[in-house]
Amino acid sequence: AHEAYTAARPKSAAIHARAREVMPGGNTRSVLFYTPFPTAMARGEGCRLWDVDGREYLDLLGEYTAGLFGHSEKRILDAVRDALERGINLASVGEKEGQLASLIVGRFPSVEMVRFTNSGTEANLLALAAARAFTGRVKTMVMRGGYHGGVLTFATEKSPVNVPIPLAFTDYNDPEAARRNILAEGDQLAAVLVEPMLGSGGCIPATREFLQALRDATRQTGAVLIFDEVMTSRHSAGGLQARHGVIPDMTTLGKYMAGGMSFGAFGGRREVMAVFDGHKPGTLAHAGTFNNNVWSMAAGCVAMGEIFDAAAAEALYARGEALRLALNGVARRAGAAMQFTGLGSMVNVHFRAEPITGPYAATEAENKLRELFFFDMLAQGIYLARRGMAALSLPVTDADCARYVAAVEEFVAARKPLLGQ
Ligand code: PMP
Repeated sequence: AHEAYTAARPKSAAIHARAREVMPGGNTRSVLFYTPFPTAMARGEGCRLWDVDGREYLDLLGEYTAGLFGHSEKRILDAVRDALERGINLASVGEKEGQLASLIVGRFPSVEMVRFTNSGTEANLLALAAARAFTGRVKTMVMRGGYHGGVLTFATEKSPVNVPIPLAFTDYNDPEAARRNILAEGDQLAAVLVEPMLGSGGCIPATREFLQALRDATRQTGAVLIFDEVMTSRHSAGGLQARHGVIPDMTTLGKYMAGGMSFGAFGGRREVMAVFDGHKPGTLAHAGTFNNNVWSMAAGCVAMGEIFDAAAAEALYARGEALRLALNGVARRAGAAMQFTGLGSMVNVHFRAEPITGPYAATEAENKLRELFFFDMLAQGIYLARRGMAALSLPVTDADCARYVAAVEEFVAARKPLLGQ
């Protein structure tokens, strides 16, 4: 089944074969792994990518949301070049980190104070540390199917990659159960950690009612409510929390916010974040060589201060909503057991007809279709996540979206016998 794919990509195949000798599975980032071997990209510009075998793609993956600005936004490139000209790694605080902190605090309703990390994973780990220090409690409640980083992954309840922290689980989008479970944990629970839309779990939005139930119950027990907006912060100037009007105690951020440079941030209520205040004795340390690296800070100031303003966020959200509507129109007209979930610029395909409100165990047939979809899109020059997610970047135009819709029409026509209701 992979013959045409493999035949068109001799250089990618060779890169994979060499890499396999020295890296298990031939890569260092599991999300980019798929069989027979992943396509290796050589170059990007705007929302276009070229692979090492010279094939061109429309990039709708947008680096899993971190590539919001595309591959060559001039203002970001200039900021990074300017930072590098002033010297690499100065081992000091700098003006830009305070500027970027002000930009973030000014936008997210829950973020009164903020600190930076290298990744979203670290941001979540540090937010949990803050919640534990603040409450004097240890346990954290997470969602079945939630994802908060390489060592905080809850697709199954137990995974040996996860950091060993005492956990409680609840089901996504079940407000009654969540309320009950949080109250049952009572004063044992330090934090509830939730994505306001499951990202890695398939772009499945939380209902406002569910988020409000988490808000009310944690307020009752004193647990710190943490929204992981590493992916969803793009959904408005103030993130998905501002769109819903449900404000957590803490928020974690990452991905696009440093213009595509490595980044994470966690912030929240002043009294919670005070656990890191070095002016006070006995506070928590939060170290990290690259926390304030000059290129992330400089690019972040431009990204958040000059480019991704409220109007840009709304326009991107509207473009994504229109795309999802059009894609679902294709599925509906064909009578296909296929739907596109998500919010705004994040859209994920699913091969079932019934409404999706939380994580589910996909059947073998669904998994097969998901694989076919990915390889059919690649053959049509459209680059998505292997799981079928698109995350639009700012350079993507309406014409690019129309091209994706046409490619999906083609897929539906070609695979009709497999897509019955
Ligand atoms: N939280 C969410 C919701 C994410 O989607 C991700 C990354 N996909 C992370 C945290 C982890 O971020 P990073 O990969 O930068 O560690």
